[in-house]
Amino acid sequence: MVDTTGTDAARATGADPLGVPLARAPEARRLAAVLEQAFGYQTERDLLEHYPRRYLTRGELTDLAHAKKGAVVTLTGTVKHLVKKQPRRNLRILEIRVADEAGSGVWSCTWFNQPWHASRLPVGTLAAFSGKLEWRAGRLTMANPGYEVLRESDDAEGFASEVIAVYPATKEVSSGRLRRVIAALLDRHGRLPDFLPEELRRAHRLIARGDAVETIHRPEDLAAVDRARRRLVYDELFILQVGLALRRRALAEGERGHPLRADGPLTQQLLESLPFTPTRAQSRAMAEIGEDLARSRPMHRLLQGEVGSGKTLVSLQMLLAAVQSGFQGAIMAPTEVLADQHFINLRALLDGLDQAGRTSESPTGDGRLFDFAGPRIEVLTAATTGAARERLLAAVAAGEVDVLVGTHALLSEGVDFQRLGAVVVDEQHRFGVHQRVRLREKGDSPHVLIMTATPIPRTLALTLYGDLDVSTLDELPPGRHPVATHLVADATLRERAYQRVREEAAAGHQAYVVCALKDESDKLEVRSAKAEAERLRAEVFPDLRVGLVYGDMPPREKEATMDAFRAGKLDVLVSTTVIEVGVDVANATVMLVEDADRFGLSQLHQLRGRVGRGTAPGLCILFADPAGEEGRARMEAITRISDGFELANEDLRIRGEGTVFDARQSGLSDLKLARLIDDFEWVAKARADAFRLVEADPELAGPEHRALRAEVLSRLGGDRAEWLSRG
Ligand code: ADP
Ligand code: MG
Repeated sequence: MVDTTGTDAARATGADPLGVPLARAPEARRLAAVLEQAFGYQTERDLLEHYPRRYLTRGELTDLAHAKKGAVVTLTGTVKHLVKKQPRRNLRILEIRVADEAGSGVWSCTWFNQPWHASRLPVGTLAAFSGKLEWRAGRLTMANPGYEVLRESDDAEGFASEVIAVYPATKEVSSGRLRRVIAALLDRHGRLPDFLPEELRRAHRLIARGDAVETIHRPEDLAAVDRARRRLVYDELFILQVGLALRRRALAEGERGHPLRADGPLTQQLLESLPFTPTRAQSRAMAEIGEDLARSRPMHRLLQGEVGSGKTLVSLQMLLAAVQSGFQGAIMAPTEVLADQHFINLRALLDGLDQAGRTSESPTGDGRLFDFAGPRIEVLTAATTGAARERLLAAVAAGEVDVLVGTHALLSEGVDFQRLGAVVVDEQHRFGVHQRVRLREKGDSPHVLIMTATPIPRTLALTLYGDLDVSTLDELPPGRHPVATHLVADATLRERAYQRVREEAAAGHQAYVVCALKDESDKLEVRSAKAEAERLRAEVFPDLRVGLVYGDMPPREKEATMDAFRAGKLDVLVSTTVIEVGVDVANATVMLVEDADRFGLSQLHQLRGRVGRGTAPGLCILFADPAGEEGRARMEAITRISDGFELANEDLRIRGEGTVFDARQSGLSDLKLARLIDDFEWVAKARADAFRLVEADPELAGPEHRALRAEVLSRLGGDRAEWLSRG
């Protein structure tokens, strides 16, 4: 999506020649609404960055008689016949028969779940089709071919003599239409100016920006496309990294924080009282954090670690560092369930510590704090209301509460700390950058640790969290086994999965059943948590104790259910994804996921991380019968790959980075062409260049950086470039 603040500002100052709204661009005016609807495009820049998905080329053009079977070819022909079939609920097949222009025969084209091609290719249409030609069921067939409808005037020769860009298209706007509009825009603008310092352009042997933009849309040949792509990929990564370099500089520059002691009496006691030995990775991360905390410059660090790698301990060490240095600590979790659990776990870990010698009575008066005499820890969520909330906030403001655990309720008005020195944000992917910043602002330049269990490849970490230092827990506590994951596509095998649940329950273990929806939906054929809970209770597990939990149920009820499950008073917990992150019940061994293809891979990985946390091995059964190729590839990946980092890489490969993370907040939406996995070399180069440049000229004030400065401002826009616009 476009940052309107940025484009508005740029337009006002006339800084961004491509910031013109599409509704005012003569070529695109009539399509403006459709483009906004379909792609979220608003400006000329957006449209010029609608890059071709691929190209049809002359080299591939042939006729049926000469086409190599099994190879990708381009054939021209006339549509003779069209059939639609629907063999299964979620499978619609469109098949057309095409007579080759050269008169050498007939072949079929089929599309799966893309019925709209029918209206574009009525009988009699002349078109060029491009795809892999294969024998299927006795017919030469192209599956899901790309195509280009040829107009009367374009003979196949004319068409074939060009390299034709094929654009991502929709039902409303075809590739051909997009090509014509973009070509008109290019004609009007002429060659766009360059913003890259000459020196960098030479060093990487990049072609001029204007040539690159022209060529990517209207290449003379495919070799030219590669050169254009190289330049544009570099630009995307470079601008993104310049933004990160500026932000990091702003963070590192101005701020003075408070040094904290990481190795005081509380941390000592904590380490002694642990029921286990920290892993090497935990020790390393704690040492890295300890060093940062000792400095007078506030820490900004990311702790990434596989599910179950023990991030909580590392965060506790940091919170205790604050407490033993006379400060308060806060930890923010994305859900109430998780906040409560952190509270319970942290308190259990802290229970052994009696250093402060203070008896604490719960100001909330709900009996949740008891004979506990160490640093005082409290929890604040949406469930904390009325007088209890008032008392808690007063205690926090008076500095009587040492560690406050909570949800984003921590960010609300009226939550004021006396001396907040350490802030931990758990499962960062659930929060935006702004929330991270807001929590930090509750203190006077506190140290900040961000924790994530969404494993990300290094290139992505550099891009997504490029302004942070990174610690990684790349090791699980001993004795853990990967969770065996199976895909069940066939309804008849369902009973076997239920049998496993009964067996585990008989052995004293517990199970989760996760559904994609809370309530039944008449639009989607998806199992809902509520209906499943009822059905399982009545029909499947009449002898077992089945509980139900979902995100927006009354907090007390939710707490009671989670407590019951933790205490082993429920055998089966049916839930929505509220349990996705962080829930830690060591006795749970089986997880069933309904409609698993509706979940993201990192989500599924998180989900299965909920089982097998104790000594008994975990089992995860995914119910899904995905129709599309992508869905099948994703289900295959999750059953095959148990390592979170590897899985994340695979996910990136299957889906592309923009969809994997919250693109808007991370700046990944600025990456249109760059593929972090394939272009990792360029990520590193662009990062080095950007950081060097910002080091040398932090305001981008030099005359040789004037164009770059304008580009950064108009591209990153608004709050993401605030450090520059101030300068
Ligand atoms: P995550 O990184 O997913 O947040 P947790 O901090 O919840 O992981 O830890 C997962 C489980 O492993 C918890 O039950 C925790 O007590 C346990 N644990 C943490 N560190 C160790 C260790 N070094 N040895 C054994 N168990 C550990
Ligand atoms: Mg956790």
